[in-house]
Amino acid sequence: MKTLFYIGVFIFLAGFAMKKIKSEKVSPNIDYSVNIMSENTKNEPNYTKVDKTNEISQPKTKIVYLRGLGKYTPSDLYEFKKYVEDSYGYKCVIGDNVPTIREMYTSDGNSLEGSDCILKLYDHNKFTIYITDENLVTGDLQVRGVTYLNHNTIIIESGSYNKDTVLHEIGHTLGLEHCDNPKCLMAINNDEYETNDFCDNCKRKLKK
Ligand SMILES: [Zn+2]
Ligand SMILES: [Zn+2]
Repeated sequence: MKTLFYIGVFIFLAGFAMKKIKSEKVSPNIDYSVNIMSENTKNEPNYTKVDKTNEISQPKTKIVYLRGLGKYTPSDLYEFKKYVEDSYGYKCVIGDNVPTIREMYTSDGNSLEGSDCILKLYDHNKFTIYITDENLVTGDLQVRGVTYLNHNTIIIESGSYNKDTVLHEIGHTLGLEHCDNPKCLMAINNDEYETNDFCDNCKRKLKK
């Protein structure tokens, strides 16, 4: 069965979620900044603009923690470590796995809801990629990965496109939105192409 998978930056409920996160955990030493989502993300579910007042960003560190979430395959963490270190030059640290809790799941209990996972797992001081074998969704969409723009927490459902997915999601954490070029890693669904690379336009934005 071929299900349509989206690689999603997850925007809906973002304002709410970020406000809640900020009130729970605030670190005074972090330089907060946030991009406002532009209008070219019409394919996203229940699109809502991120309010400039809900400011959040990843710490200015190049250490990335990789952790299993719920049911996961330990060797996958080493696969992701290689992709992230080879492509971005970050230092990856494999951390303990994290058990899931009821609040991370959809109401039927069958899937992990990406928004709730990020809300529960977010730590302002650590850039962390959580890898799971469980079914990952945002709302009604099956997704391979979720994060926010300029955020520091990524959830990935391990599968056939792990390299593309992790490079794409990290692109979001660096401020890249979805790209219209279907061959670009930041295309919303680039299954047909295995370029493993950003288009020139996205590369330019990454260098800024
Ligand atoms: Zn995306
Ligand atoms: Zn692009």
